[in-house]
Amino acid sequence: MSRNAHADALIAFLNASPTPFHAVEAAADKLLAGGAIALDEKNAWNLKPGQTAFVIRNGSSIVALRLPKDVSRPRFRIAAAHTDSPCLKLKPRAPDPSANYRQWGVEVYGGVLYNSWLDRDLGVAGRVSRMDGGTIKSDLVRTEGKPFRIPQLAIHLDRGVNESGLILNAQRHLAPVLGLTEPGEGRSLEGWLEESLGAPFASLSFELHLYDTSPAGYGGFDDEFIFSGRLDNLAMSHAALEAFCSEAPGDGAIQVAALFDNEEVGSTSAQGANSNLLAATLERVLLCLGKGREESLAALARSHLVSADMAHAIHPNYPEKHEPYHYPLINHGPVVKGNASMRYATNAETAALFRGLCGRAGVPVQDFVNRADLACGTTIGPHVAAALGVPTVDVGNPMLSMHSAREMCGSEDHGMMIRTLREFYRD
Ligand SMILES: [Zn+2]
Repeated sequence: MSRNAHADALIAFLNASPTPFHAVEAAADKLLAGGAIALDEKNAWNLKPGQTAFVIRNGSSIVALRLPKDVSRPRFRIAAAHTDSPCLKLKPRAPDPSANYRQWGVEVYGGVLYNSWLDRDLGVAGRVSRMDGGTIKSDLVRTEGKPFRIPQLAIHLDRGVNESGLILNAQRHLAPVLGLTEPGEGRSLEGWLEESLGAPFASLSFELHLYDTSPAGYGGFDDEFIFSGRLDNLAMSHAALEAFCSEAPGDGAIQVAALFDNEEVGSTSAQGANSNLLAATLERVLLCLGKGREESLAALARSHLVSADMAHAIHPNYPEKHEPYHYPLINHGPVVKGNASMRYATNAETAALFRGLCGRAGVPVQDFVNRADLACGTTIGPHVAAALGVPTVDVGNPMLSMHSAREMCGSEDHGMMIRTLREFYRD
């Protein structure tokens, strides 16, 4: 049952992407299918007007770019989002048995709602690396059809839980149950990895995440919702990618879609929004076009960035948590996010630009600010805006249950954001 093609495509992308590594692989596959060329940061680039290309760093961040036909006065139109989501990551060497349970210790990645990971059917997915003939070899893995579980304590053993709230200790209470150690020959994580990679466990290093195995899908009587893990921020990663792939070379703007890892832990990593990934990529593009430093700085000054990250829709059961005049509604269009302390990079001019794009796309637009007495979240927008000096607007689609293992958003909003970002690339 299909609500719309954009939402269908998002659901497929979510199901293909249990981790940032998988999301970037899915993005690269889509770009390659559309005729883009893969660039390697380690080799010299040779780009021509009209070409579409992409570069991947660390397997978890990707920058796609398309050169216009006329490169005499370049400027960038950059849509940016993040590929990572809060989750539980397996520790390197932590078989953590209790009684006869086979378990594995986890670390918390980002602002996880711990309770949302309890009593769900969980899988393990991520990247496994090893040395192979003097070079590093990495493979993506994913458990299929063998769900694991972090069981919640029975109410009989925690009588006050509904009155006092659920307190979970990250070290003691979040280790998933993978199986039983009896009769001693049961399958282990080590065994699964050795089988999958054909290499001894001692030689393997990994970044493995737990993920909710329930597939993404529609919700509500009229399919008005999408229910899934990782909507923050694979939904906006997908919107940027879809808009980018739907467009053709423009007249003057270099179109860019930049999807960064590690936003949920502050963006400071070799591949995060605080890295030189985007700045170096844009610089190399301009060098390919024979532009000097003076022309490159002028090109940046002519540029714009849309930082797209999911926004808080008003919660029906907690309306008091929202600013009374700025509460986004689901399926009422993209949200412009502002904050006086510049936790969002939006200013009047960039908000006006985005509002204009929504108008051209025939899409309604909403405004969000936090309650003045609540601390505001942030996005990659301020980081990239500060690094590049490019005017930036922070936007996103409204959602509920942000940072839960299972979130929800509107199925109509997704196409509206894609249409707006397409207008941005044409600008
Ligand atoms: Zn986010």
